[in-house]
Amino acid sequence: MQTVRQLLRNATGHLCSSDSPRLDAEVLLAAVLGTDRSRLYAHPEMTALPTSVADFMRLLNSRRAGYPVAYLTGLKEFRSLAFRVNRHTLIPRPETELLVDAALERIPGHTGARVLDLGTGSGAIAVAVAAARPHCAVTAVDLSTDALAVARENAAANGITDISFLQSDWFGNLRNRRFDAILCNPPYVDFPRSALPADEIRFEPRLALDGGHQGVDCIRIIISCSFRHINPGGFIIIEHAHDQGDFVRQQFRMNHYRDIITGRDYAGIERYTCALRP
Ligand code: GLN
Repeated sequence: MQTVRQLLRNATGHLCSSDSPRLDAEVLLAAVLGTDRSRLYAHPEMTALPTSVADFMRLLNSRRAGYPVAYLTGLKEFRSLAFRVNRHTLIPRPETELLVDAALERIPGHTGARVLDLGTGSGAIAVAVAAARPHCAVTAVDLSTDALAVARENAAANGITDISFLQSDWFGNLRNRRFDAILCNPPYVDFPRSALPADEIRFEPRLALDGGHQGVDCIRIIISCSFRHINPGGFIIIEHAHDQGDFVRQQFRMNHYRDIITGRDYAGIERYTCALRP
């Protein structure tokens, strides 16, 4: 019988096309064995049953074909919360954690602010905000009812019972509702320009990624429609690509927003822009 150490060593070699072969192998083996990575480290001599080894090999082959690890395990961590993901939802990204941090900095702990997560997907932003700010009234909308089903499940699994979920094409079904904060990770990938064949994003829903011409069609619509859905003094934060900051700031200015600030990640890359509705 093969030990964890042997399985991981072989698998790491097998996944040489991945950016993180060892990590991928550990996450997949832990999922197959129903354990966590720390137990693999603590017990490298542990052996796996042949059925588990066969399952592991199947996952390794899918991973080699480019399938994202999170879709293979069905789980992704976001701000230390576990989120179920499937092919109907984008896999939550670390850069979106920065958007949530920026939002929480602007939402004091005790307030009952009304917060909208526009295009919630797996529910990552909505659930993370609701978990950190229990007094807030969080609404999460998505065009995809399949994504909303996943988001609802993720809220429940994280013990959040009071998010209001709504199917809507951006602001389409929100009528005259206003919020104190709108948070949005829209589709912003410029598909024709993206090097798709080499990329994991070809497995993710196009609806969640494809931002149209130069990746900014959805951003333009959201910014132009958002103003009347924000209470005076409220704000909007929108995630965007590293080269879309100028466009996003200009759109906010054109739509009468103030205090427009772009946030960068730890590598200095522009990731999101925040704007205040005066
Ligand atoms: N950050 C994602 C990527 O580049 C895109 C997410 C999005 O379009 N909202 O893969």
